[in-house]
Amino acid sequence: MTSWQKLIKNSISHHDQLSRFPGIDQKEIAEVCRIYPMRVNPYYMELIQQSGDPLWRQAIPDIRELLDQTGLDDPLDEENLSPVPNLVHKYPDRVLFLVSSQCSMYCRFCTRKRKVGRKEMVIDDKTIAAGLAYIQKNKEIREVLLSGGDPLMLTDVQLEKILQAVRRINTVEVIRIGTRIPCTLPMRVTRKLASMLKKYHPLYINTHFNHPAEITPESTLACSRLADAGIPLACQTVLLKGVNDDKLIIQELMCKLLQIRVKPYYLFQADLTRGADHFRTPVETGLEIMRYLIGRISGMAVPTYALDAPGGGGKIPLTPDYISSLDENSLEFLTYQGTPCSYPNSRHE
Ligand code: SF4
Repeated sequence: MTSWQKLIKNSISHHDQLSRFPGIDQKEIAEVCRIYPMRVNPYYMELIQQSGDPLWRQAIPDIRELLDQTGLDDPLDEENLSPVPNLVHKYPDRVLFLVSSQCSMYCRFCTRKRKVGRKEMVIDDKTIAAGLAYIQKNKEIREVLLSGGDPLMLTDVQLEKILQAVRRINTVEVIRIGTRIPCTLPMRVTRKLASMLKKYHPLYINTHFNHPAEITPESTLACSRLADAGIPLACQTVLLKGVNDDKLIIQELMCKLLQIRVKPYYLFQADLTRGADHFRTPVETGLEIMRYLIGRISGMAVPTYALDAPGGGGKIPLTPDYISSLDENSLEFLTYQGTPCSYPNSRHE
């Protein structure tokens, strides 16, 4: 067993392992765990300073997960968009291929909390073969996004087998891996893993950090190893109440990501996931944060604020409004400092 696998084995998954935190209701945590599992590996647990802090909220069950009356089990309609189990074909030229049901931590706000880490999510050689056959048959698929769960929870051998099979399909141009491991269990990103991944270029990794306290020497090293292997890294952050719904926190996070060679990509409005309603912020909060970031920090560090439309409608950018008026003669707008400005809209025909 490798060292990262030992860390997974030593994860916290039972309410009585939290007894050192004063004032928590272990009975409530146990109730939530009966429906939605808990797993917090020792690395991430060490980053938690106290109960209720932003990292705690992402990792430790909350009774509000069971009280949510408004959320949807499958907010993005992924099951209906799956021609074969665990493969979502929403956009014409790309697919989301779920290759692992496990994560190094079960995030309490996860869009796939209906199945991740639960017996409902069965991924085996048969489902992987069915996914590969579907990709092989549908020639319009140019990009394959491996996700889960977390694909980096597979062993190097298991993951390489899938990468080899996808690369053998000559209509697939780009492979992307969606993983939270560089943030939640960075020691999984070994030199060996990075040199295996670099054989399958063009390969991109989208990772997921939500708070500046998640950027540590260990996560910095993990991202360096991947970047040094020529893998472009981007981050999909989720806007979460009580975690990062604050312009200064997001500003710090985005700037730190850029420093560790990760390009901020999306800032997502939280999905309408059942059990995660207490994390949702008003859309105005996201727009206000974006208004604060634009012009203040490098454009390289500014993510796109987006909503993944319920029912499988795809990602919709949500942009603060700068345009005051637009006609055939001029565009009137506000600068990022709020100063009115105009631009001649002449057409050269
Ligand atoms: S790592 Fe990703 S897939 Fe796994 S629980 Fe967290 S958000 Fe969900």
